[in-house]
Amino acid sequence: MTLLPVIDDDSAPFWEAARRGELVMQGCAGCGRLRFPPRPMCPDCQSLDVTWSPMSGRGTIWSFVVPHPPLLPDYAELAPYNVVVVALDEDPTLRLVGNLVTAADGPINEILDIEIGAPVRVVFAEVSDDVSLPRWVPA
Ligand SMILES: [Zn+2]
Repeated sequence: MTLLPVIDDDSAPFWEAARRGELVMQGCAGCGRLRFPPRPMCPDCQSLDVTWSPMSGRGTIWSFVVPHPPLLPDYAELAPYNVVVVALDEDPTLRLVGNLVTAADGPINEILDIEIGAPVRVVFAEVSDDVSLPRWVPA
């Protein structure tokens, strides 16, 4: 992986859970609304108190793209590959960007025939000592 996420104080619990193979979402301790990406303040009630809740790891393809060059050189070698946006079953407004793969460590350029609305489930690919990336397999 060329580009790895920057882990900050707000997102650290998300990445710690991912290393354990768990998908968690940040929520508001004031009004209960879940939000992603993690951030300090609730957009609804402005509370700074947060909770973390485990998710089922199930969702559907909300959108996708198959990038073609020009791309960053390392990614150009993989093209065409897929990038998907997955809406979580618990709350479809929670959307994660990732890749559709056949197995956690599978290549991102294997599946190019993708349908909006297709069910998927999360898997985690250990890409560094600190980062296990959520990816998606057909459910
Ligand atoms: Zn709130």
